[in-house]
Amino acid sequence: MDKGLRITVDGPAGAGKSTAAKAIAKRLGYLYIDTGAMYRALTLKAVHQSVDLSDEEALDRLAAGTDVRLARPTRPGGPYRVILDGEDVTEAIRSPQVNAAVSQVARVPGVRAGMVDRQREMAGDGRVVMDGRDTGTNVLPDAEIKFYLTASFDTRVDRRYQEQRRRGFEVDREAVARDIAQRDEIDSHRAVSPLRKAPGAIEVDSTALTIDQMVEEMLEICRRAADDQGPASGAR
Ligand code: C5P
Repeated sequence: MDKGLRITVDGPAGAGKSTAAKAIAKRLGYLYIDTGAMYRALTLKAVHQSVDLSDEEALDRLAAGTDVRLARPTRPGGPYRVILDGEDVTEAIRSPQVNAAVSQVARVPGVRAGMVDRQREMAGDGRVVMDGRDTGTNVLPDAEIKFYLTASFDTRVDRRYQEQRRRGFEVDREAVARDIAQRDEIDSHRAVSPLRKAPGAIEVDSTALTIDQMVEEMLEICRRAADDQGPASGAR
């Protein structure tokens, strides 16, 4: 039975995870799973309902009563939609308000437990590229290929700043830098599944690489792993 590879891509904000993970999924014809989008969707609801972000029980309750889905693309590598309680929130979850609040929501253990169960379910039989902060360390620790993407702080801030402007949000670079520094701090120091390089993960520093170079380097690693795995992986 063809199971294909499970590929995880972890790293801090702005390291290029989602760009790389999406491109790899498209090239391999694998399913792309954006775990951050799931935490973002719940955060959007918390912000809309003015839930106290320091109240873990309230966030637990909110998560228990919330349905977050990633609607599968209709073609391999195609765009996916993020659905919160039946509503399409794909664009809304990228707002600066969500950026500023998401790490506080994602550090709550009960919130994470529910999300991780869903993510493992979605990874099913493989042929997936999963993007996040804990996908190699916690969600799929036995994935065939685990990447840990990094880039210098300034590079990460620049990328997020440009991305926010492209999306039409009014932001200043200092605010983006503060947001990223704060998220790095919370994501790396939380009690449950902090951001870490997973054992066996391959580190790719994208500071001096173009997107194409980063993706090619990662695909080459996937191809080598596929050769070890045999033809069933489809990663050639
Ligand atoms: O990747 P993205 O920037 O969309 O992630 C948003 C936030 O969601 C991260 O800063 C982190 O707090 C949280 N997250 C997480 N675990 C994941 C993915 C995202 O805690 N697997």
